[in-house]
Amino acid sequence: MHPRLDLSEQDFREFANSAIEMAAEYYHSLPHRKVMPEVNSRDLREVLNEPMPRTGVDQQEIFRVLRDVIFAGSRHNGHPRFFGYVASPGNAVAALADLMASTLNTNLTSWRSGPAPTEVEHVVIRWMKQIFGYPDTAMGLLVSGGSAAHLSALAAARAAKSDTNVARSGMRTVTRALRIYMSEEGHFSITKAASLLGIGSENVERIPTDDTLRIDLGLLEERIKADLAAGHRPMCIVANEGAVGAGAVDPIADLAAIARRYDVWLHADAAYGGFAALAPSVRNLFQGIELADSIAVDPHKWLYSSFGCGCVLYRDATAAYAAFAEDAEYTRTVGLINDEAFAFWNYGPELSRRFRALNIWMLLKYAGADAIADAIEANVHCAKYFEQLVKNTDDFEMLAPVTLSVFCFRYKNGLDLDALNERILAAVQRDGSSYISNTRVKGQFALRGCVLNFRTTEEDMRRLLEDVRRVALEIAD
Ligand SMILES: *Cc1c(COP(=O)(O)O)cnc(C)c1O
Repeated sequence: MHPRLDLSEQDFREFANSAIEMAAEYYHSLPHRKVMPEVNSRDLREVLNEPMPRTGVDQQEIFRVLRDVIFAGSRHNGHPRFFGYVASPGNAVAALADLMASTLNTNLTSWRSGPAPTEVEHVVIRWMKQIFGYPDTAMGLLVSGGSAAHLSALAAARAAKSDTNVARSGMRTVTRALRIYMSEEGHFSITKAASLLGIGSENVERIPTDDTLRIDLGLLEERIKADLAAGHRPMCIVANEGAVGAGAVDPIADLAAIARRYDVWLHADAAYGGFAALAPSVRNLFQGIELADSIAVDPHKWLYSSFGCGCVLYRDATAAYAAFAEDAEYTRTVGLINDEAFAFWNYGPELSRRFRALNIWMLLKYAGADAIADAIEANVHCAKYFEQLVKNTDDFEMLAPVTLSVFCFRYKNGLDLDALNERILAAVQRDGSSYISNTRVKGQFALRGCVLNFRTTEEDMRRLLEDVRRVALEIAD
């Protein structure tokens, strides 16, 4: 008998009810909290660091630490004025789905390990494919995030575009340098994947951008031609479908034409921007994404899912199979796979996988895709509204146009604007009413925010501008 491992029904109900109570209070209190708590590492360690407990404590004691130390000592990503980075607010339905997924504790290695959960993941992948206009024959799977999706896609690209069976014989047998192209706005997770795959980060070529921060197509094509002349193998073009810096969306139909001309794999980094294809006002920006050979999109960004959920889609999974299947020479047509012999491990880097799909399935079932599309549309609207607010001031300026929901701006009353805005950023983050992060736009330091939260309203955008101005004036004093 292990009553603390195999809980009695009564103990479980009590424990679970305390958790639900605390979660309910948390959601209710979110908008009234400071976005960033006043904590430091030394104090947190003093409270949390202890020898490994030999015996258990009561659940009340656990909830006390959870509430007073862990929740209180966290940055609140669900706060309506948290605009930092590209962060999902999470959602209550997903939190409950996480509980259900852990209760069932399916290990989604293959159909056999979880027949119904595997079918749920297939359904969710089918929905993702529909968003981007991918054909029925395309396939994909959920992974830990955008970085893992990029790694998977680039592994498939490497298999497709190497002359040798590189998964089996290694990079030693690849005689020509494999080259990857993305704009200067591209994400570092691409470079990291190139390092891990033995392609080398130096073989990721960063192509300059135009005024709207989109990749310069002429320079890209010149670079590819120069690489061919030098005896290299152009392997992959990465299209930004919502770049993390300022939200730029590369013209993917044009990139697809270039990719086809030079027999290069086209990968869409839609980690942040992808779900905006659901929003009517910006949908046309994604026209041509269905031509990409692979797409990375993060449900744990603009699908408001809990963290730990990315998605990779392959238009044709043959190359992914060559990259990941144990028997890489055994290739079979995807459509002919015996459904019950299906194994996720043949298409991605992981073996044991949690039931990530439940999170997405439950949210889409409960809220419906229209509600998600409306929320995304409202996020885009808030960013554009903020752009207008800034343009109507004398003391602020925009540094890049708003394409999706990222806005880049700065305070402009002062001399060394880079240094001044760096100080403003630190002060805003400390202040706690709103939270923004930073980027560089064409070399200039920018205050940067991203609206990615269904709780955010126009009122929050006005508050943000007031907060930044208040802090800027305090600094100027
Ligand atoms: C977040 C992001 C990534 C990396 O994804 P993770 O889920 O954080 O690993 C890659 N590209 C873009 C554009 C992103 O926004």
